[in-house]
Amino acid sequence: MNFSDLGLSPILVKAVQEANYETPYPIQIEAIPAILQKRDLLGLAQTGSGKTASYILPILEELQKKEVNKSRSVPVLVIVPTRELAAQVEEVVRLFSKYLPRKVKSAAVFGGVSINPQMMKLNGTDILVATPGRLLDLISKNAISISELTTLVLDEADKVLSLGFKMEVDEILNRLPKQRQNILFSATMDEAVEGLIGKLLKNPVKIEI
Ligand code: AMP
Repeated sequence: MNFSDLGLSPILVKAVQEANYETPYPIQIEAIPAILQKRDLLGLAQTGSGKTASYILPILEELQKKEVNKSRSVPVLVIVPTRELAAQVEEVVRLFSKYLPRKVKSAAVFGGVSINPQMMKLNGTDILVATPGRLLDLISKNAISISELTTLVLDEADKVLSLGFKMEVDEILNRLPKQRQNILFSATMDEAVEGLIGKLLKNPVKIEI
């Protein structure tokens, strides 16, 4: 099994090989085709499993079919619990998008730093990686809109909730269009995560690593 068997374009596979990913990890073998088929996905997986590439690669593949974004409406949102994870995920986006013919604009936004520089750079963003509180601030300042989103990823959902972001996540979900693809990853499961899964995912493909 290799990355081209999973339905990814040669140009994307080239970047994957250059990153020294030789064979796909189990989570990638299961998640990449499911996400390409526009299914909702529930991934029970830890950091280190290869979960980031398992959603970023199919998302980049799908973005190639879309026109260049010139608006404040972002098509892909990745919600993460921390600033560190936001930066890491955006790094992975950059790593894999470097050869793509349809350029991909990504941004990472998080709290604890000044909002103004973040506001300036968001127009035309394709993939926004964000912590919940800062995302809502940016929406309220009209720097970004999620009302035309096509794909939502909630990464480390257990940690997002344990850090006390439940209300923020609910507010974000209320602002999303009904028709969309939802992807949720969590390392652990409890009632709060289950509640979120019930609210978010429609007939998901389930992957447990
Ligand atoms: P993650 O679980 O997404 O944080 O990824 C864990 C680590 O595994 C990261 O350092 C990735 O660069 C690396 N990685 C992910 N998928 C592969 C793969 N198929 N082959 C080699 N390394 C990988």
